[in-house]
Amino acid sequence: MKIVKSKADLKAALQSYRSGQAKIGFIPTMGALHEGHISLIKNAKQNADTTVCSIFVNPTQFNDPKDFEHYPVTIEQDIAMLTDAGCDILFLPPVTEMYPEGIVSLESYNLGYVETVLDGAARPGHFQGVAQVMSRLLDAVQADNLYMGQKDYQQCMVVKQLLSLRKDNTKIHFVPTMREQDGLAMSSRNRRLTEGQRALAGLLYQCLVSIEAQNGTKSFDIVKKECLDLLEHKGFKPDYVTLADADTLEILEDYSPSRNMIALIAAFIGDIRLIDNLPLKK
Ligand code: AMP
Repeated sequence: MKIVKSKADLKAALQSYRSGQAKIGFIPTMGALHEGHISLIKNAKQNADTTVCSIFVNPTQFNDPKDFEHYPVTIEQDIAMLTDAGCDILFLPPVTEMYPEGIVSLESYNLGYVETVLDGAARPGHFQGVAQVMSRLLDAVQADNLYMGQKDYQQCMVVKQLLSLRKDNTKIHFVPTMREQDGLAMSSRNRRLTEGQRALAGLLYQCLVSIEAQNGTKSFDIVKKECLDLLEHKGFKPDYVTLADADTLEILEDYSPSRNMIALIAAFIGDIRLIDNLPLKK
């Protein structure tokens, strides 16, 4: 695997691939890699793409400076995992390479409704930060295919909107969420959980499963209250437990069988905010 740290070196490394038949598949990450990230690489490889993975902890998308400070960094391990997975190029830029003018007075994007709800409401500025870094990364990689995890469903929608604003032909692929045995969605932030917190964290997925299981038998109001009560009882601080239209993220007050529905959840356990979601079967 070739490791490059500047956009110029990335361009040079990609030149030989671009002249061939293979498409460029891009997997942006913030490192502290786990099997969820690796499944994105595998998806790209299944499509016979030349794979470019980036590791960049983007300062502009952290609305909480403590979250940024504590974000796990495991670069040696990440390199070993990417090498094993057959990744072709790792783009590992320093902050100055992505933001040569510094991180003040940055551009803003008209991301519309998808930026205003759920994590957008809970984490002001977060999705603008995602758009700022994704725009720079997309310019640098010029990928044919972009692979993103459904675990961050709203982020997938935001990036889809960004691609449309950019009139960018890069094709976005939403990759299903990889989970631990107890259902907990794999996440770099899980490394920060204490043993006790980790033992409880599977509850988020259990809530999602119970929302899906009770579709058609109870009103969502009741199911939502059961989830909130259970989470609070176990010491979580829930941010939201919600049902939305999976195509638009419009919040749904109740189960709406004619729509594609998705259940979404966000809760703090200690100072760690976990999110998860489950598209409901039709
Ligand atoms: P991150 O490093 O958290 O920014 O994530 C980088 C990419 O990996 C994003 O597209 C995430 O949605 C995706 N991802 C994170 N966790 C998972 C998971 N458990 N399963 C599949 N994809 C994931």
